[in-house]
Amino acid sequence: MNDYPKPPFPKQGQPVPGSQKKMDPYPDCGEQSYKGSGRLEGKIALITGADSGIGRAVAIAFAREGADVVVAYLNEHEDAQETRAGRAGGRQCLLLPGDLAQKAHCQALVDKTVERFGRIDVLVNNAAFQMTHEHFEDIPDDEWVMTFDVNITAIFRICQAALKHMQPGSSIINTSSVNSDMPKPTLLPYATTKGAIANFTAGLAQMLGEKNIRVNCVAPGPIWTPLIVSSMPDEEVQNFGGQTPLGRPGQPVEVAPIYVLLASDEASYITGQRYGITGGKPML
Ligand code: NAD
Ligand code: MG
Repeated sequence: MNDYPKPPFPKQGQPVPGSQKKMDPYPDCGEQSYKGSGRLEGKIALITGADSGIGRAVAIAFAREGADVVVAYLNEHEDAQETRAGRAGGRQCLLLPGDLAQKAHCQALVDKTVERFGRIDVLVNNAAFQMTHEHFEDIPDDEWVMTFDVNITAIFRICQAALKHMQPGSSIINTSSVNSDMPKPTLLPYATTKGAIANFTAGLAQMLGEKNIRVNCVAPGPIWTPLIVSSMPDEEVQNFGGQTPLGRPGQPVEVAPIYVLLASDEASYITGQRYGITGGKPML
């Protein structure tokens, strides 16, 4: 049995977007543990926010399952290098930094992936921004717009650019959140985008069914990542995950298996769905 860390955690503020290297305890992205068995052999995967946290765990798992991976991220070069080092198994890994709020960058991610690998079989839209605000009046207008640009508009843009390079049987996986239908009020802009991602997923799946391209989303509960320590108040970070039935936050490696399933050919009849990975917090 895995013995993952439980709260209380040490106090640790970090500026956005946060560095995984500086976290205590260090998040487990499967670097030492994930064992592949050829489930994604030969596939090409583009994953946003893959330098750290859930995206890193997905990139490591995908590579160890036989995929070549493109790791898109904002600017955390050191974390991205660690993702690349963790992939093992001899698969290729292309690192692409840049800001998803920029339309041209969304297009460039797809162009550079196709230039290197010729196509996209799995697209994982996982990057996100969030910030805590105690009062509605405190939310800056430009932060609201930026949150939507990064969390949902970029998904629309990347999907649109990627689609012409995706063959029947390909898979799109978006990272939503438990906030998609249980919004935490202090994360209002973020939670609103996570609801939009779940809705977008269900709608797009219906549009792409005739092309046999599947679209699903994952709704994590509390997962121990840089996003958390760079955006939440100290007390919440110190008790993070303590209210779940399992009494602890999930580690990124515990979220990766659902992405592997949804990316694989075994999931050929699974589309338009949202999967909770919440440590037992109900999502009905
Ligand atoms: P993380 O900080 O490790 O990953 C988020 C990544 O998004 C960052 O590494 C960063 O490179 C990228 N990013 C942020 N702004 C960007 C921008 N402007 N341009 C390009 N990239 C940008 O944190 P994580 O928790 O692993 O987050 C991954 C996904 O999981 C997010 O969609 C998040 O909303 C979702 N999620 C996380 C939790 C949790 O408790 N950690 C819960 C529910 C959902
Ligand atoms: Mg990061």
